[in-house]
Amino acid sequence: MLDLVLRNCTLPDGRQGLDIGIRDGRIVAVEPVLPAVAHSVVDAAGQLVTPPFVDAHFHMDATLSYGQPRVNQSGTLLEGIALWGELKPELTQEALVERALRYCDWAVAKGLLAIRSHVDVCDPRLLAVEALLEVKEKVQPWLDLQLVAFPQDGVLRSPGALDNLKRALDMGVDVVGGIPHFERTMADGAESVRILCELAAGRGLRVDMHCDESDDPLSRHIETLAFHAHRLGLHGRVTGSHLTSMHSMDNYYVSKLLPLMREAGVAAIANPLINITLQGRHDSYPKRRGMTRVPELLAAGIPVAFGHDCVMDPWYSLGSGDMLEVAHMGLHVAQMTGQDAMRACFQAVTATPAAILGLEGYGLEPGCRADLVLLQARDPVEAIRLRATRLAVIRNGHIVARTPATTASLDLPGRPKNVDWQLPPRA
Ligand SMILES: [Zn+2]
Repeated sequence: MLDLVLRNCTLPDGRQGLDIGIRDGRIVAVEPVLPAVAHSVVDAAGQLVTPPFVDAHFHMDATLSYGQPRVNQSGTLLEGIALWGELKPELTQEALVERALRYCDWAVAKGLLAIRSHVDVCDPRLLAVEALLEVKEKVQPWLDLQLVAFPQDGVLRSPGALDNLKRALDMGVDVVGGIPHFERTMADGAESVRILCELAAGRGLRVDMHCDESDDPLSRHIETLAFHAHRLGLHGRVTGSHLTSMHSMDNYYVSKLLPLMREAGVAAIANPLINITLQGRHDSYPKRRGMTRVPELLAAGIPVAFGHDCVMDPWYSLGSGDMLEVAHMGLHVAQMTGQDAMRACFQAVTATPAAILGLEGYGLEPGCRADLVLLQARDPVEAIRLRATRLAVIRNGHIVARTPATTASLDLPGRPKNVDWQLPPRA
């Protein structure tokens, strides 16, 4: 007896007409027409069933704080950092927890069941660390929250930040963060990368640094990050987030850099919604897009995920926890419009970030965790095109969120009554 069967599923790899059997929170069978009886049955009706969305780069301590204490007028990264500095002394643990829990509700409703969130450790009270550790435990039954100790004001530039960061790790924060381009000099930035990578190696932790988030073509911290990842044997455990300077780098230099990243097993995270709005702000025209070189990184064999980064916070006033919106923007900014490229954009918000986070049991094979999303779309490209409705979100074998199918009622003579934006099935 199974707990749950999803009938007639289409999978992201294109396989169709499959049933997915679930028992004790795990997928136990993926076969055409499972004969087994189950306590409950969901008819997927040929629509896409995917493992959940994963956001590899987020700031949950700042989310949903839009307008507090004021709105970012220039919309720039630096005014955002200044604004966050104004907000920090006014933060309370209760408000942090409440905003984070509300965002996690949004995430689950959108089928986003794993998030890597940076948490600012430059406040000596470590209020945000305490709050997000509490949230991590609270949401664990329905969402995997991985935390990065993030020294927003610079681990060397901000007094006491390194000690605070170590305390945060002692308290249970999972990943070592950094922000080398925000240190006072390029040399300090490089030194911060060395210190933080050695700290991670010593503690057996992963690394995820905000790295080269600028339009400076000479920002070189990703090279230093790859060097220390390789030197310390951290292959597969280090990620460079943003890497926007790569957009502006000299092509010859990038041709040397990409193989170094590949050799060091360093992954990349682009944040399309944020990169396209924050970068290129000093340009007149032509105005740079600012997002890192996603197709080139992928072609070099480097894993690339797309992160949401911000939702309604000092840096970004929009967003809703919809990783398909993130993939949609990434696809456009990177001009990844070929069929394979569009599918790679879907991977960039599902399987690739799951690997970067090191999620256990992620996937659609028997033995994987029964965490699934049923979309109102027939394939990954249609899912991105429509930012498809999450008809059902399943966690640990249980349906935890449902959204009614999206249709509109028409009142036009001689035309159908309903519109759902999907074409009829192909013959
Ligand atoms: Zn960030």
